Amino acid sequence: MSSSISERIVSICSSLPTSVKLIAVSKQVSAQAIRSAYAAGIRDFAESRIQEAASKQAELQDLPDITWHFIGHLQSNKAKKAVEQFPWIHSVDNLKLAQRLDQLAQQLGVSPQVCLQVKILPDPNKSGWSVPELLADLSTLDQYKNLQIQGLMTIPPSGLNDPEILNVFNLNRELAKKIKEQNWSHIKMQHLSMGMSGDYELAVQAGATMVRLGTILFGDRS
Ligand SMILES: *Cc1c(COP(=O)(O)O)cnc(C)c1O
Repeated sequence: MSSSISERIVSICSSLPTSVKLIAVSKQVSAQAIRSAYAAGIRDFAESRIQEAASKQAELQDLPDITWHFIGHLQSNKAKKAVEQFPWIHSVDNLKLAQRLDQLAQQLGVSPQVCLQVKILPDPNKSGWSVPELLADLSTLDQYKNLQIQGLMTIPPSGLNDPEILNVFNLNRELAKKIKEQNWSHIKMQHLSMGMSGDYELAVQAGATMVRLGTILFGDRS
């Protein structure tokens, strides 16, 4: 890509509705490139590996108003670090992990914002709740008072065409609405984390509140 990171950010930000937060996915991206995106106004960055994130976070400590988002599959032995390093975790993908994060949050005296990762369509390549599994687990999730359950995250299976992808995003919005209408005492459903470089326009059309963009901002990770 010939345009600079800041030019791409300005152009994408101006195309997004103000209700949509752009999260810059900085996995495999240097701290220097993160600084460029920061200089262009980005304050939300997402990483998918705890260790890689830790070294960049240390290097960027002089930028205190960054909000870090975790978006990768989280193994339980990394859960403590995730809670320590990330105020947002988009990839809470099973009940056991949610329970562990809730316990850790209590011990550490924090209350991370989380999204529940759901597979709207069956997808053997991804982790996450199926829709029936998630609905069955809500009453337990509602008791995890140290987690601020903010919404749903989804990634469509690969190989879908645009109308099919849009349908997945629409179904995710409908699912969040259905859960919200159940009036849980603790679970909130005000965010939809959906949309990556290849499909974020469809996600925005379907009501995404957070898009997670890597390649389109920083170039190919190769
Ligand atoms: C890598 C990644 C992204 C960003 O993907 P791009 O196609 O580079 O925009 C978004 N969400 C998750 C969960 C990812 O792992």
